[in-house]
Amino acid sequence: MMYENSLAFARQLDQQDPLRHTRNSFHIPQRDGVDLTYLCGNSLGLQPKMARQALEKELSVWQNLGVEGWFEPGDASGQVWLNYHERCKPALAQIVGAASETEVCPMNALTVNIHLLLTSFFQPAARKRKILTIKGDFPSDQYALETHVRQRGLDPADVLIEVAPRPDDLLIHTTDIQRAIAENADELAVIWMSGLNYYTGQVYNMAVIAETAARHCIPVGFDLAHAIGNIPLRLHEWGVDFATWCSYKYLNGGPGAVSGIFVHEKHHNQNLPRLAGWWGYREDRRFAMTPGFLPAVGADGWQLSTPNIPALALHQASLAITAEVGMSALRQKSEQLTGYLEYLLAPYDEVMLLTPDDPNQRGSQLSLLVRKRGKELFRHLTEAGIIGDWREPDCIRLAPAPLYNTFEDVWQVGEVLRQFYTT
Ligand SMILES: *Cc1c(COP(=O)(O)O)cnc(C)c1O
Repeated sequence: MMYENSLAFARQLDQQDPLRHTRNSFHIPQRDGVDLTYLCGNSLGLQPKMARQALEKELSVWQNLGVEGWFEPGDASGQVWLNYHERCKPALAQIVGAASETEVCPMNALTVNIHLLLTSFFQPAARKRKILTIKGDFPSDQYALETHVRQRGLDPADVLIEVAPRPDDLLIHTTDIQRAIAENADELAVIWMSGLNYYTGQVYNMAVIAETAARHCIPVGFDLAHAIGNIPLRLHEWGVDFATWCSYKYLNGGPGAVSGIFVHEKHHNQNLPRLAGWWGYREDRRFAMTPGFLPAVGADGWQLSTPNIPALALHQASLAITAEVGMSALRQKSEQLTGYLEYLLAPYDEVMLLTPDDPNQRGSQLSLLVRKRGKELFRHLTEAGIIGDWREPDCIRLAPAPLYNTFEDVWQVGEVLRQFYTT
């Protein structure tokens, strides 16, 4: 697309935008009665207007039915709390590219799920005991791996193999990952990494990584925290063994919203080792309360506890928006918004992009490396009503989310940079 740096041009793109109405489904935070330019959906997505109603509905069921809410519908929909998680499944399966709803289940929180899935998929043997990951991945993932490895009586220094970014472009090259897999294949027990780097915004080629892993018979799992609801995913087709994510970033499920997992169908009949709880027990026999754990089929078998119904209500309400629009329409707008932001930043030599310029290797986020006066620029953006986020010592992350951001939002960023660097 040919871009222009003018407000009229940005407004014209907004008028032509087939998704221009979805912004109305969200509350846009304001300052002094004016909408902020919220470019922080990679950290916490905005509140869908439906969220309050969804929450209030379950509060009413609790108020009116008490414990019966688990088994009795609170309204004409006929839905009960007992299988509430199933209401989120059609949208989740669509968004992550599952073959069926049994491959996905909303549950727990992200880091909890990382531990649960590693318990099942990290099966170290004397020789095959290593884990391949990415150097500088999100801290929680690093802590999870380190402590998980120690908990098995192994030494992280011996077991963890980290693929590092190249010094010239700070990116992770797919070929470097493929080479590391091939070179260490005999010793690798599992591969665990992000699908989209939280810091640089780089999207990894999950299809190729999963294919390489499968060729060497090594299970591969992805942390999709920044990928879900941001880029199209085809987890089943790619042959990804397992994955987990959070729903408070691009899925707008609310602060600390319910996470979810994906377990590929090929593992459903293997009775994998796991840490179990009663909610993962076969649903038809759960209340028999008999000893001996019988897992529910598929991803459901990893559930532990009574689900957080208010959180699931928020999750369902926000998932519905993403599922209705569909990832392909979202992706199309996302590429244009991000491309426009890149175009507007291009004239400023002071601002370097950490994020790849190849649209196939990025989602909605651009990470700006600002070595000189970076913090000052960030403060200037914030004062002008542009909400991004700051990573010490010199990185500003801006994420135009296609569900609620406009081309005018993005144009504003260019305007503030122009003022900052010309005055
Ligand atoms: C946001 C994020 C997390 C956060 O984990 P929680 O358990 O939800 O607090 C973990 N990993 C990655 C890659 C993230 O982007």
